[in-house]
Amino acid sequence: MPEHIVATFDLGGTNMRAATMAISNTSWRMLDQLRRPTQSYLSVPAASAARQLDALLDFITDYADTARSRFGAVAIAAAFPGPVQGHGVVLALPTMWGPDGQSLCPMDLAGQLRTRLPEMEVKVMNDVSAAGYRFVQEGGDFALFTLGSGIGLKVFLDGQPRVGPHGFGGELTHMVFDARPDAPLCDCGGRGHLGALASGRAWQHAVAAAQERGQEPDLHRFVEPLARAVAMLHFSLGLERFIFAGGLAEGLGETLREAIVQNLPNQGWNLCQDWNAMVQLAPADDAHALIGGALASASASRLFQ
Ligand SMILES: [Zn+2]
Repeated sequence: MPEHIVATFDLGGTNMRAATMAISNTSWRMLDQLRRPTQSYLSVPAASAARQLDALLDFITDYADTARSRFGAVAIAAAFPGPVQGHGVVLALPTMWGPDGQSLCPMDLAGQLRTRLPEMEVKVMNDVSAAGYRFVQEGGDFALFTLGSGIGLKVFLDGQPRVGPHGFGGELTHMVFDARPDAPLCDCGGRGHLGALASGRAWQHAVAAAQERGQEPDLHRFVEPLARAVAMLHFSLGLERFIFAGGLAEGLGETLREAIVQNLPNQGWNLCQDWNAMVQLAPADDAHALIGGALASASASRLFQ
């Protein structure tokens, strides 16, 4: 079986990570990896969004060139923390470029990378979609929640992330789950969104507030909106697999999973669903988008068919 060598990127608001992976069928080997701080609107406020874009493209191009000459990489897979339309048009990247960056969007990032790397196949994806491809090979439809400083979500049906014709699907975390006028603010600027209520940052606030009162934080109350989102997807689409990844899921682990499972019978019609089997934790290696992006690149590659 030939190996498909991919330079794969997970480009976040805090860190830019790159790896070279060898894919053979559905197995993978990591040959090399690298991490750099992101030049974001928060870390380098003086740099314009256009300058930050150049730095990002330089990082990808330099690493991909090295992966090609050192390991024979034939493709790149780049995962971004924003909605991506069609074949690699990024609609928004607020966590990297801030409000100023919206003037750059929609941006054909895949096209820009193809111009810089004409000899390589290019795949540009949303980062949660990329992460989800890691779990496709295990079969069945599923939803992947990434609980980081915000929350990401993608639903995979028949092995593909379903984002709709305009790329807005899987943004359930920006739906209002708390309609009070003083509900917590979300990264997107809205109030009471799931991403503001049940993210890693929200949990830090809950812990700090409980400490001020001399109490333990109430995890069971905290997971209620997450359990409601799981129930919405279960009752609307019939999904029976919900995977939780990201820093908060890794940090709280089984305690978080059990709290969600215990909350689920309160969220809707109780038909003896086996919530315990449906709610799962992802492996705690923080490499889902790197691995999933490389697997997606291999399955889409003309060279690998
Ligand atoms: Zn939001």
